[in-house]
Amino acid sequence: MPGSFKTEAIVLRSIRYGEADRVLHLYTADRGRLGAVAKGVRRVKSRLGGRLEPLSRVRLVLHQGRGELCTISQADTVRPHAALRERRASLERATQACEAVLRLLDSAEANRPAYNLLCNELALLDASAEAADRAQALAFRMKLLLAAGFAPELASCAACGEVEHLGAFSPSAGGVVCEGCEAGSFPLGEEAHRFLVGALANPLAEIPQASELALSQADRALAETAEYHAHVRLRRVAA
Ligand SMILES: [Zn+2]
Repeated sequence: MPGSFKTEAIVLRSIRYGEADRVLHLYTADRGRLGAVAKGVRRVKSRLGGRLEPLSRVRLVLHQGRGELCTISQADTVRPHAALRERRASLERATQACEAVLRLLDSAEANRPAYNLLCNELALLDASAEAADRAQALAFRMKLLLAAGFAPELASCAACGEVEHLGAFSPSAGGVVCEGCEAGSFPLGEEAHRFLVGALANPLAEIPQASELALSQADRALAETAEYHAHVRLRRVAA
């Protein structure tokens, strides 16, 4: 329905458009994924200019016309995340987090848990260089899969319900599997299993560490879950 509305959003991606405009991919608090044009934003004197950089958290007034893209009529910064842009590792993790949101959440429907999760992740990466580690990035991904409706089964065998001897992960079964249901699975050790359970149970700021082997197994489990169930290819989370 045409008209103006307000919402908060994270700028996921920004693409040059025409002479002086940009098309923004936004993840909004109230309307999920949204595309919007920021007119004249590449001109030196633009009012909106510096406020709409990727990774920024902003408060927007948008106009919905008849076309597919909204137009941004006002933008105020909530958090610029300036510190994380200064650190390469933090910037890479933040960019990867936004990419995962772009791929996993493409509907124009509000998903407050997903929005809050992304805001949290960017705030943590902005606040401290230590947050840019692999365990943290994988925990974000696990929570994002849950928010998107694709969390793997971790409590019992995804194929038969057995609760013991869960030493493998099967993307097609949708979670951990027992010895009897190992077809099509790969090893997921006890430590990796514990890490994934802990990633869901703990807040992002309190993610327990794990060995590189466990994190690699967890990474594979999350990436193949996204691929099999959401049909989305996520870049692996580098050490
Ligand atoms: Zn089983």
